Amino acid sequence: MLRQVLLAAARSDGVRRAVETAPYTRGVVRRFVAGETLNDALDVTRTLTGDRLLVTLDHLGEGTRDPGQAETVVKGYTDLLERLAAAGQSARAEVSVKLTALGQALDEDLATANARRICAAARAAGTTVTLDMEDHTTVASTLRVLAALRRDHPETGAVVQAYLRRAEEYCGELAGAGSRVRLCKGAYAAPESVAFTDRAEIDKSFVRCTRVLMAGRGYPMLATHDPRLIEIGGALALLNDRGPDDFEYQMLYGVRPVEQRRLAAGGARVRVYVPYGREWYGYLMRRLAERPANLAFFLRALAGR
Ligand code: FAD
Repeated sequence: MLRQVLLAAARSDGVRRAVETAPYTRGVVRRFVAGETLNDALDVTRTLTGDRLLVTLDHLGEGTRDPGQAETVVKGYTDLLERLAAAGQSARAEVSVKLTALGQALDEDLATANARRICAAARAAGTTVTLDMEDHTTVASTLRVLAALRRDHPETGAVVQAYLRRAEEYCGELAGAGSRVRLCKGAYAAPESVAFTDRAEIDKSFVRCTRVLMAGRGYPMLATHDPRLIEIGGALALLNDRGPDDFEYQMLYGVRPVEQRRLAAGGARVRVYVPYGREWYGYLMRRLAERPANLAFFLRALAGR
């Protein structure tokens, strides 16, 4: 119930304005977001890679309906990729891209062309792109764009959300040689007809998907903070003769940082998803919807305590 309210708030302009202008939200935002500028993102990247972690950077923004705004997002990514290469960070840091920020809702071809430019810039910088998966209404389009991009850029990463009833089928389709696939539970509101809503059902689907990806020939990227799913993922990797370099764990910036470092110190590949930029509102609301403890922290900050 609370989760539904927060996910609805994520789409509300009125709530967004109230939260963005509240005087005490800054501290909470900085827990989950690297900062508003490219320099903030690079500083955080340097710290994380210094701790033997890998990074995927998200230039925040979503739901763009203006081609000019989509162009600004492309420029944001190409600048970021140039700076990553210049800073010698591109071997350890890639980028995550939301197609709705590139104009997907306006025109799929425009979003594909924009994403292709980011993929080319990533290749020039010596790194890769992963296409985030958004609201369930965008899944079919995102998979079409992914297929188009992979013709020239087979290294482009895909995302499967385990809460989708078709998740296992998507994993089967995406588990081919060279295919990088991030598996996550799914962060958006989705109806029963397309998604599991019961937490235990979602977890079971995550395990089934992990099994398919680990048995496949691609590169699984397990994006979860869930200790049980992390342990099961490690066990399934071993069962499928995968070494520590044949898959990775992924977690969000600000969530379980001690565990991120513990896994990396044990030899695992661990990538941290680092969002930055001014458009942090929708991202922050999804993080609050995931965990009551995050919400309590946020409400205390809003009240100035
Ligand atoms: P939850 O069910 O949220 O948590 C499970 C358990 O993890 C908890 O019970 C607790 O034991 C532990 N845990 C969780 N948070 C904390 C904490 N703060 N401190 C201590 N323990 C904690 N979603 C999408 O829809 N599309 C995407 O493209 C996408 N990309 C993602 C990329 C990455 C790298 C990650 C990590 C997540 C991404 N997500 C994405 C979000 C994802 O779908 C989930 O909403 C989010 O990760 C929370 O799910 P969880 O697996 O961590 O499990």
